[in-house]
Amino acid sequence: MGDVLLLNADAQPTSYLPLSVINWKEAITYVWMDKVVVLDWYDDWMVRSPNWETKVPAVVMLKQMQRRRGRPRFSKTNLYIRDLYTCQYCNTTHTRKELTMDHVIPLSLGGKTTWENMVAACGPCNTLKGNKTRMKPKCKPYRPDYYDLVAKRKQLDMPIKHEAWRTYI
Ligand SMILES: [Zn+2]
Repeated sequence: MGDVLLLNADAQPTSYLPLSVINWKEAITYVWMDKVVVLDWYDDWMVRSPNWETKVPAVVMLKQMQRRRGRPRFSKTNLYIRDLYTCQYCNTTHTRKELTMDHVIPLSLGGKTTWENMVAACGPCNTLKGNKTRMKPKCKPYRPDYYDLVAKRKQLDMPIKHEAWRTYI
């Protein structure tokens, strides 16, 4: 789980997909490599080794602008965000653990693993649907653009690890 908010050189999160959160080890590595500026620290969190000790950054900003991708790539996380963690068959929201990816047209019938043929489905619905096409998803699956996913990502709760994050999210 991530602890450090990573911002682009323009102080926007580098990616909302998922939100640019990296773990503290990565963040400290970036600091050492001089790739980031630290904007905020955890006051009460120190990490130590025999040779060094450091506070843990809460918010870091890249020194060099990182370009955004035009189209979000297909991934499980992005798919769940597009479908708002809602099973597309029974229309109830689920945690990530409870969800599965379902091929609307099953693989066995030539269905592809693409934005246009994949939906989020809970385990029971996925099992019920099996290799048939009788069950139809609530919404026709589509390929989202970056801003669509960003907007949806914002509708979902995200864990705020440090108050300073609110300034940038
Ligand atoms: Zn379901």
